[in-house]
Amino acid sequence: MRLRFAPSPTGSLHVGSARTAIMNQLVSVANNGTLILRIEDTDVSRSTEESTNAILSTLKWLGVSYGEGPFFQSSREKLYSKYIKKLISEGKAYCCFCTQEELEEMRTKQLHKHISTGYDGRCSKLSQEEVAEKISQNLPYVVRLKIPPEKLMFNDLIKGIVEFDGKLLHDIIILRSNGSPTYNLAVVVDDHEMNISHVIRGEDHVSNTPKQIAIYNALGLEAPIFAHIPLIIGADRSKLSKRHCDTAIEDYQKKGFLPEALVNYFSLLGYSHDANNEIMTLENIAKTFSFSSISKSPSMFDLKKLTWMNNQYIRMLSDKELYDKAKSFCKDIPLEEKKIKKILLLSKDQLKVLSDIKEICAPFCSYKIDWDQKKVVKLLKKERILDFLKEFIEKLEILQDFSLNSLEILFDTQLGLDSIKKRDAAQIIRFASTGKLISPPLFDTLYLLGQQEIIIRMNQFLQEVPCQEKMY
Ligand code: GLU
Repeated sequence: MRLRFAPSPTGSLHVGSARTAIMNQLVSVANNGTLILRIEDTDVSRSTEESTNAILSTLKWLGVSYGEGPFFQSSREKLYSKYIKKLISEGKAYCCFCTQEELEEMRTKQLHKHISTGYDGRCSKLSQEEVAEKISQNLPYVVRLKIPPEKLMFNDLIKGIVEFDGKLLHDIIILRSNGSPTYNLAVVVDDHEMNISHVIRGEDHVSNTPKQIAIYNALGLEAPIFAHIPLIIGADRSKLSKRHCDTAIEDYQKKGFLPEALVNYFSLLGYSHDANNEIMTLENIAKTFSFSSISKSPSMFDLKKLTWMNNQYIRMLSDKELYDKAKSFCKDIPLEEKKIKKILLLSKDQLKVLSDIKEICAPFCSYKIDWDQKKVVKLLKKERILDFLKEFIEKLEILQDFSLNSLEILFDTQLGLDSIKKRDAAQIIRFASTGKLISPPLFDTLYLLGQQEIIIRMNQFLQEVPCQEKMY
């Protein structure tokens, strides 16, 4: 099996393209195949080197590895022109000199007559002499492929039989007036030359497939097997866009998602699998991979699920791995490295993404605490909750040996004298001393902050928070 991933370098790697790359990798691993990377940069007005580099580095970060390439279409133009010449010499393609105005006039007339719009093939009737004459006058032209008015069909591994009416395609352009081949022509030539056996790509390309089949037919070549993966959509069922979430993989990288989590998530997106066993490496998913398990309908992107998965992967990291991976997110935290490391390891289970470490470290830095009381409205309604806090502070003020152990004993003793729930008691202490409802384990947090600091903070909190009677 020979597969290819063929991004156009017109921006950074998009979620949809990353999923296509990952699916190709998955199928390649499942079948012991070869994955080829091809950069489709024939459209010079939109392709940039910067995008190429961004795509290459994101693929590397994701762990998508290719056995051959990257090949650049921009350096293969001679090859495409050889195929185009062959098609012209066999009378299967022709030069079209129609101007923009002529094409617009043609379209207006077709619309008036209520017939399908598209090129009517008029330049295919030019004699060789007329063509030679126009070329000698330096008139700009494109090359069009003659598409016979027949049915074009392919058997898609996911969608099943797909049929198109050749009559509706009209004679497609295969060479632009600036001399560069169009996407459809270059793809066919390359997929043939590179011996691609399976084309796995997004469903947005399904309308290109009949055009490509028409080119294969004209060249007398066998088309590869196609598998079009249904699109990824947002919660409102429209095509995934920036309105829904970040769409560039780079943004996920910047937030501290782990590549393993993204690969796991996209491998299983739209793939029927055991919901109780979702944390799997690509290699494990590949062991039982089958095209028949890919859903025919679009898949909804679920950021919550991806974030959950990311947390599962963070939990699996060793302490060293976690620190190495999170280091770059800790750069601007004004704490000593040792302390950051300690907080990081203590909060491993709570990190949804690695960049959360900044927020988690915030209460440990000498920032002024902002107690957003909206967060604790319910908690403050609990009976005796502030009395509990006051009594806890009083005992803390006279505590002799401040340690993890003594803190825990103090808390338990105070709790034993009171009727409030352990969870509520812990939350009010956590909130009063950090301004947050989530932190590393409570006693570690208090211990790291230090006895004086937490006393000051908790007293300050009591001064700021209106007394319960006034509040309600
Ligand atoms: N270059 C196309 C894209 O980036 C993909 C072409 C293909 O897979 O056939 O969408």
